[in-house]
Amino acid sequence: LASASASTVRQVKLDRESELRIEVANETPLRLRVLNGNAEIFGTELPPEIWLTFPPRLKFAVFTWYGATIELDGTTETDYTADETPMVSYVNVHAILEGRRHRARASASKDSDTSQGPRVIVVGPTDSGKSTLSRMLLSWAAKQGWKPTFVDLDIGQGSITAPGCIAATPIEMPIDPVEGIPLEMPLVYFFGHATPSNNVDLYRVFVKELAQTLEKQFTGNAESRAAGMVINTMGWIEGVGYELLLHAIDTFSANVVLVLGQEKLFSLLRDVLKNKPNVDVVKLQKSGGVVSRNTKVRQKARSYRIREYFYGLVNDLSPHSYVANFNDLHVYRIGGGPQAPRSALPIGADPVANPLRLVLVTSDQVQELIHLVLAVSYAEEPEQITSSNVAGFIYVTEVDMGRKQIKYLSPSAGVLPGKYLVAGTLSWIET
Ligand code: ADP
Repeated sequence: LASASASTVRQVKLDRESELRIEVANETPLRLRVLNGNAEIFGTELPPEIWLTFPPRLKFAVFTWYGATIELDGTTETDYTADETPMVSYVNVHAILEGRRHRARASASKDSDTSQGPRVIVVGPTDSGKSTLSRMLLSWAAKQGWKPTFVDLDIGQGSITAPGCIAATPIEMPIDPVEGIPLEMPLVYFFGHATPSNNVDLYRVFVKELAQTLEKQFTGNAESRAAGMVINTMGWIEGVGYELLLHAIDTFSANVVLVLGQEKLFSLLRDVLKNKPNVDVVKLQKSGGVVSRNTKVRQKARSYRIREYFYGLVNDLSPHSYVANFNDLHVYRIGGGPQAPRSALPIGADPVANPLRLVLVTSDQVQELIHLVLAVSYAEEPEQITSSNVAGFIYVTEVDMGRKQIKYLSPSAGVLPGKYLVAGTLSWIET
C-alpha cells in the first residue's frame, strides 16, 4: 500500500487551546508522543516524551491548553488541527462541579442532601460526544483526587464492559487514553440487547436496580458521595427514548443535566424540569471533532468491544475454552412469550407478554445459543435474575446437539462464578 509505506515520523505544533484530531488507520497502530509543552487526551494528561501506541481505528483528539509539540509515527486515516473547540465551556462545567464537591465534603457530617456531590447526567443525540464529555469530566475530577462514580446507561457501546449492559464503576485515576477504563470490580447488569426497545420494562428495572445499589454504597461512603457521579446515556432521545431519559434523571436523582448539541432536547428538558429547583439544565456545544458512526460502524464497534472482553485490546488475553453438558447448564431468557395461554384467560382478554418472565432454555432449544454472549448471574435462585448483577460473560462457540454439549469461551479459568446464565440477543461472530 502506498499510504502505508509513506509512514514517517513527523511533528505537529499546536497553539494554545487547539487540538489535533486523529483517526488511526484501519489496520495499523499509530505511535505518538508529546515533545514539549503539555497536552491531554479527553481529560487525561499525556506523559512528556514517552511514545504511546494507539490501536487501529481509534478516534481521539490531543488537546493543549497552553501549546505543545506532538510527534507522530505511522499512518492515519485522517489527522488535522482545529482551533475551535468547546473545551473552555467543558472545563468551566468541571470547575462548577468541583465547587459542589468541596461543599459536599465540607458538610459530610450534616444531612444527606448537602453532603451529596454533583450527579451529572450527559444527554444528547447519538454522536454528540456524550461518552467523550463524560470521560473528560471524570478524568479531570480524578486528577484532583476525587473518585467519582461513572454510570454507563448506553447499552449500545459499553465503555465499562461488554455492550448490552448498564454498569457503574468508581474512577480512581484519569482514564488511560489507550486502555480506557480498568475492569476492576464494575457493578454490571446484563440487559442482553443492544437497543432498549427489545424490552423497555426490563431496561427500566435494571436502571432502578443499579441506582438503588449505588445509593446503598454511597450511604456508607462519604468520599464517593461527595465526588458524585457522571452518567452517560443512550443517543435515543425521541419517544420512548425521551421517556427513558426522564426515568434515568429521576431514578438517579440527577442534579445537573448536560445537554449536548440539541436545542430541542434542551428546551424540552428545561421546561419539564423547571419545577425542580435543585436540578440545573445546561446546554453545551457539540465538538466539531466528534466522528459520526453509521449503524454498520456501530455494529462493528460492538463486535470489537466483545472481542476485546475475551481477547484484550491487543490480543493480550487468552480466554479458556470449556465443554459443558446441556443438562448441567441453567440458561434463562428474560421476557417474551405470553404469560398464560389464551385458553387460561377470561374470554376476550388478550394474553400479554410479561417483560420480566424468566424462560428456561430447554435442551432442544440449545442450538439457538450458538454465537451468543451469555452473562453469568450472581442470582442464587432463578427469581433473582431480574434483580441481580452479573460476574462476567461467556461466549458460545459451538453447539453439539448429538453429544448434547456446548463449547464456550470464558475469560477466566475454573468454575463459573454463578449457577445461572442469561441469554439475550447479543451475539458475535469470531473472525
Ligand atoms: P456519543 O457518546 O455521543 O455517541 P462519542 O463521545 O462516543 O459520542 O464520540 C463519537 C466518536 O468521536 C468517538 O470515537 C470519539 O472518540 C470521537 N471524538 C469525540 N470527540 C472528538 C474530538 N474532539 N476529536 C476527534 N475525535 C473525537
